[in-house]
Parts: sequence; C-alpha cells; structure tokens
Amino acid sequence: MVKSLVKEKEMNQEGIMQIPEWWSCPEGHEELQKMAHALGKKELLPRAFISDQERSYPRESLREIAKAGFSAVTIPVEAGGLKNGFTAFSVLSESFAHYCPSTTMCWVMHMTTAHTIYEAGTEEQRQRFIPRVLNGEVGGLAFSEKATGGHFWNVGSQAKRNESGYLLDAEKSFVTSGGEADFYLVATTSPETENPDNLMFLLVENDQNGVEAFPFDAMGLRGNASGPMNFKNVQVALENRIGSEGGMGYFNDNTIDPLFLLGSAACWVGIAQGALNMAINGAKRTVHADTGSSVADYQVIRHELAKSQIKIDSARSMLYRTAEAMDRCAKEGLELSECLYPLWQLKTHAADMVIDVTNAALQVSGGRGYMTGQVEKFVRDGRAGAIMGPTNEVLREWIGRTLIEVPWMD
Ligand SMILES: Cc1cc2nc3c(=O)[nH]c(=O)nc-3n(C[C@H](O)[C@H](O)[C@H](O)COP(=O)(O)OP(=O)(O)OC[C@H]3O[C@@H](n4cnc5c(N)ncnc54)[C@H](O)[C@@H]3O)c2cc1C
Repeated sequence: MVKSLVKEKEMNQEGIMQIPEWWSCPEGHEELQKMAHALGKKELLPRAFISDQERSYPRESLREIAKAGFSAVTIPVEAGGLKNGFTAFSVLSESFAHYCPSTTMCWVMHMTTAHTIYEAGTEEQRQRFIPRVLNGEVGGLAFSEKATGGHFWNVGSQAKRNESGYLLDAEKSFVTSGGEADFYLVATTSPETENPDNLMFLLVENDQNGVEAFPFDAMGLRGNASGPMNFKNVQVALENRIGSEGGMGYFNDNTIDPLFLLGSAACWVGIAQGALNMAINGAKRTVHADTGSSVADYQVIRHELAKSQIKIDSARSMLYRTAEAMDRCAKEGLELSECLYPLWQLKTHAADMVIDVTNAALQVSGGRGYMTGQVEKFVRDGRAGAIMGPTNEVLREWIGRTLIEVPWMD
C-alpha cells in the first residue's frame, strides 16, 4: 500500500523534494554551468573512453574548450577572461570533470600556466603569449623534479647565463601535457645561487632543441600525458624569462598554488559527483527478479548514496566559498595568498572525498562498477588527487602547523 503510494507520487512528480539550484551552483553562474555540461556531453564524453583506453592526449577536447572561449578564464575580462574568473574556473572544472577528467586536468594545468604568464609577465610578454593562449595553444607547468619529489617549490636544477639568455638543463619527473603542450613554464633556480628558493621561470617552446618527453603509463588520468620531461641544454632567450631572475617563489604562493589547488579540487568534486550520478542511475535501473526490488530500494544503499552526497556537498561548499573569496581578493587588489589556508583545506578534503565517494559508487554499482567503464575509470582518475603536490600529507602538516601556531587556538 505504502509502496504503491510512493510510486504514484513519483509518477506525478508530486511531493518530491527539489534540490535548490543554488546548492550546487554559485549564484550568477547557472548559465555557465549549463553551457559547460552541454560542452562536456557533446565534445568531451565521446572521446574520454578512447583517450583512457589508448592513452591518447585529448587535443580535440581541449581545442573545443578553447573555441568556446574558456582558455584563459581567470585573467581580467578586458584581456580575455570571464567575470568572477575564479568562480567561473571552478564551475567549468567541476562540470568538465563529469565527462573527461584527463581533459579537465590538462586544462587546469594550462590555466595555471596562462594565469602565471599573465601575472608575472611584462606587457610585451602578455602581448606575445596571451593571444596564443586565446587561440587555443596549450601550456604546461614543468616544476616537479625527482630529487625533491612532491616538494615542487624546491627545485635542484639550475640554468646558466650566456650571451643570449640562459642554457637550461633540467629533468622533470611529471609534466601534464608533456610533449603535447605548445610551451612550458619551467621552474629552475637562478644562476650561481646556492639557495633553492631563488626560483626562476623560463618559457620553453615544445619544438625547441633539447626538449624531450617520455610516455605516461599510469593507473588513471591516462590521457593527460603527465610523463617525465628532459630539458637538455635548451637555449632560452632572455625575453622568455618570465619575471625576475630568482624571487619567483612569490608566484608559487600567489598564482600557481591558488590556481592549481582550486582547479584541481573542482575536478575532484566533479569526478565524485559524476561517479555518484552513475551509481544512482544504476541503482534505480537494476531490479532483482527474486525480491522485486531495485538496488535503490535497499535502505542500506540509499544511506550510502546519502553519505556520499553529503561528502560531495561539503567539499563543493568549500570550493565555491573559496573561489568567491579569491574573486573578492582579485577585485580588491589583495594577494591570492590570503586564501592559501582555505585552499589547503579544500584540496585535502576534495582529494580525500573523491577516493571515498568513487569507492562507494563502485560498491553500489556492484559487478557493473567493477567492469571496465565509467565508474571504475572515475575511481582510477580520482585517485591522483591526494598524490598530486602539494600532497595531502604535506597539506595536513601545513594545516596542523598553522593551527598550533595561531594564538586564538589557545
Ligand atoms: C597525474 C599527475 C600529474 C602531474 N602533473 C604535474 C605537472 O604538470 N607539473 C609538475 O610540476 N608536477 C606534476 N606532477 C607531480 C606532482 O605534483 C607531485 O610532485 C608528485 O605526484 C609527488 O611527488 P613524488 O611522486 O616524487 O612523491 P614524494 O614527494 O616522494 O612522496 C612520496 C610520499 O611521501 C609523502 N611526503 C613527501 N614529502 C613529505 C613531507 N614533507 N611530509 C610528509 N609526507 C611527505 C607524500 O605525501 C607521499 O605519500 C604530477 C603528478 C601526477 C601523479
């Protein structure tokens, strides 16, 4: 009797609680979110499975994102960005991740590169590089080195000064879009320094002599070409040094970390929601003939779905609150490093959450979830978050240290 009443209500769509739009989309970004999902469904999803299985770079998908006008959304509107660029960046990254996490992470690293060039570059460098970015060229960030591992802000490599600029010699352990990007922002230390904090950024073109990229054979994000790269005696012209010779650590805190932490956290939120949506659909559709119940009819399953959704929404709330704070900082001319502490919490939480939620989605999906397909791919793709630097261990340590040092905790 009760069951039939519920069925009737469902059919009439009466008495069903609607989840308010503002809960999953920051105010004023509803249209952008719809556009991003339409783009994801039409352009990213059809290529995502092939990209994963064949470990092929999602070039076409990135081109479509650029064609839609999303290749530099965080820079000022007059330079080609979007209004409230950090919130827009988060909405786009979260939405794209439902369809192709590999494309999304290539785009996040590209956006971080483009934003850093804009912020740290001279007017002449902006004029040279930003139109290329707006035309769909892709940038990569070559920071991490084997010797210093996930401490990507401490690099051991060094560039030598010569008549026309610098001779770069660096071995990088992971570079997203490695060998596929059009150019790389390479972090190295300035000549004659003993101090690894004397960071210098050099812009290197993909087709320059001495640039070598190696394959990426990984558990997930298989399309994003994040293999090692060598820069062997690469001649970099003086005009391709972005910012000062040393002292670029400032941009780690004010562009690179903030953009990477925000954009990647949004990607982990999108992966988690994508996996949970698939689990929900599967649970509703799968009916057991012996009990006459769908998987969604089992209370224990509904509780798993509820627990996962709460976890996603907690990370999403942190995401949009932090993005809005970053937009406020940009408007008021404050440094983005003002938002680092919330960003550390956000990335740690989102990267832990995506592991829990994708595992729960696989469990709810049963054998179907375990088979090669979207749900198991989300599990593999999402697993990268906690490992990508700053890793979750490092971030928890920074958060913990901050907590014990702030006086109001006494
Ligand atoms: C898919 C993918 C894409 C990437 N893309 C890029 C890119 O585009 N550009 C780029 O520069 N880098 C990139 N990286 C590198 C990434 O940012 C990290 O640097 C790297 O994943 C972690 O370094 P590692 O493997 O050397 O680990 P290690 O640093 O050796 O860490 C091993 C373990 O030790 C822990 N650990 C390390 N240091 C500490 C510490 N101080 N305290 C406590 N625990 C610690 C770590 O959390 C981890 O559990 C990418 C990595 C991946 C997996």
